[in-house]
Amino acid sequence: MNIKTIFYEPGIINYTLGKELRNKFSNATWIPIENHNDIKELRQNPNTEFAAMKKLLIIGTRKTHTYRKNEKVSDFLVPYTSSGCSAMCLYCYLVCHYNKCSYLRLFVNREQMLQKLMRTASKSEKDLTFEIGSNSDLVLENTITNNLVWTIEEFARLEKGFITFPTKFDMVNPLLDLNHRGRTIARMSVNPHEIITDIEKGTSNLTSRVNAINRLCEAGYKVGLLIAPVILVENWKQLYSGLLDRLADTLSDKVKKEMFIEVIFMTYSYIHRAINNEAFPNAVELYDKTIMTGRGMGKYTYNQKIRAEGESFLREEIGKHFSEDKILYIV
Ligand code: SF4
Repeated sequence: MNIKTIFYEPGIINYTLGKELRNKFSNATWIPIENHNDIKELRQNPNTEFAAMKKLLIIGTRKTHTYRKNEKVSDFLVPYTSSGCSAMCLYCYLVCHYNKCSYLRLFVNREQMLQKLMRTASKSEKDLTFEIGSNSDLVLENTITNNLVWTIEEFARLEKGFITFPTKFDMVNPLLDLNHRGRTIARMSVNPHEIITDIEKGTSNLTSRVNAINRLCEAGYKVGLLIAPVILVENWKQLYSGLLDRLADTLSDKVKKEMFIEVIFMTYSYIHRAINNEAFPNAVELYDKTIMTGRGMGKYTYNQKIRAEGESFLREEIGKHFSEDKILYIV
């Protein structure tokens, strides 16, 4: 990221990471704010400013640390060291929460967040799994803060529990030599090359993502694949069948043996439509009224018929290329 403008809460300077970032980006323009959650001048920007706003960096402290229960790959969703992201996937779920203010925010009180994580993990009788990447992409964040490296090594000192994160990025070299002790589960999100190029703007390409998960697995990490979100564009069967061919050809034998697969169908929303239509007028239209249905709160999902067809197609393709047992869930 070429960061030119940073909005910051002045209190960040009381934290080690805050000081480090101040030095690292000393050439940027720093604009003081009261609260990272409410930057009026950015909130009032028109939707056409969305891409420009994604180039900003916001730095503050995280004030809310409530864990949410989860029953998919983890036990808890943990608010962690960042939220938002500088990439621009047209369906990004964070847009539902933060609207056009889904730019990258970094939180410098990382010791406080990690301590709660380690306390919760060690107090539990069973091995808990914590999803630390549900609010941002931690591999991307790590290129600025080194927080993921720090977290993996600190968490590995525990005798209990796992942390996990999904990513769409390939900058995993700093993670490869860490002493993670098998307590980190890395999950690579994949989609057909055409969908990555047209819809997942600013993320790593498919070849690099596959190489990255192969290397993480080789480095001893537990690994998973997220086929997500499944987007039913016109030629979806051809695209997803091509994706599975390509994965079968390029994933290492070790990944194929050890991975689990999550499959998530796309949810879209009124807010996405409004922002995308104004910010990216030439982009692919993801809303298709012939196959989507309203789900309340301005959200759209695929209707039952096409969703069932998609699920059975993917089950069959995954079964053909790997094994249906690899599927952890499909939602
Ligand atoms: S990489 Fe993830 S967090 Fe970033 S824009 Fe895409 S979906 Fe959102």
